[in-house]
Amino acid sequence: MKSPETSVPQFDLIASSFRSQLLFWYNTHARDLPWRRSRDPYRIWISEIMLQQTRVAAVIEHYHEFLRRFPTVQKLAAARESSVLAGWSGLGYYRRARMLHAAAKLIARRRDGKFPTTAAEWLDLPGIGRYTAAAIASIAFGEPVAVVDGNVERVLQRVLGNRLAKERIWQAAGALLDPNRPGDFNQAMMELGAVVCAPRAPACLTCAVVNLCAARGELPATSVPARQQKRDIHYALICRRNHKGQEVFVVQRPRNACLMAGMWELPQAIVREAGEPVFTLKHSITTTDYSVMVYRKGLPAGADGKWITGSQARRMALTGLARKILIHASILWGSPEDDAARFPHLIV
Ligand code: SF4
Repeated sequence: MKSPETSVPQFDLIASSFRSQLLFWYNTHARDLPWRRSRDPYRIWISEIMLQQTRVAAVIEHYHEFLRRFPTVQKLAAARESSVLAGWSGLGYYRRARMLHAAAKLIARRRDGKFPTTAAEWLDLPGIGRYTAAAIASIAFGEPVAVVDGNVERVLQRVLGNRLAKERIWQAAGALLDPNRPGDFNQAMMELGAVVCAPRAPACLTCAVVNLCAARGELPATSVPARQQKRDIHYALICRRNHKGQEVFVVQRPRNACLMAGMWELPQAIVREAGEPVFTLKHSITTTDYSVMVYRKGLPAGADGKWITGSQARRMALTGLARKILIHASILWGSPEDDAARFPHLIV
């Protein structure tokens, strides 16, 4: 396909075929995802925030549980932050939950519970960027605004046969958008990128728009991907047993920390005093691969934290890594295999 400015009548013709072929495919092949069964802006908003940097399979279970806890924006707005973080536990990137909570308060208190209906209005809320605003406005309210996420960007670059700059991608997405079904079109573009036009080895033979695609495969690489950093990190597993059963000592991250502020985790161990680790595991966050070493320790004098049981840990806003360590130590749930099933995005 040619890019929008090369020949407008020709582009319009091709764009029309592209829309109808893509939507025909989406009508019959769209995955049955829980948030697609509703046009409720609250549900669509929750799903869009959860899906940021998180795989669909990992979101589904948390989506149902979060909505069970907070079925309306009013319930979410009235909840304590610690409850919201606990409801988010396992999804990671907790800043999203804090922003979601702040936006819910604004909607409930300043807008009398009424949701914004346009992308421009959604952009005024905390935690809402250009993509999310357009996704909610197009899916829930039918506003003809295009979305660009990683999947859409890849599809468009391949279809147009060109590594366009970001702003040009947004323009191309807007030019291709179906104004009659903008929400479905946006979801269809993302779906095509997620299940057919994959980053590696796209399934071009089964692609709904293969006849309109310039690349019909991966574009040549232009740069070397960023290398993962490697870091060691050391934690103390401090346990005691009393009438409540086994308890573990946890500490709270500073409320002004850049990452996971206010979340609970295990105390860090001082390596020179630590001896041999009782176990090690791997954990990855964005571009860093951590080797996590866990030591059995006694409670240091003056330690500032609290003792919790395994069942309390389930309801707390633990960091993903703390949760993973407690599962590995069989204090929380059962085994790393359970964790792999429940939180596949946390497992490396
Ligand atoms: S033909 Fe291949 S490269 Fe082009 S959009 Fe379809 S899957 Fe992607």
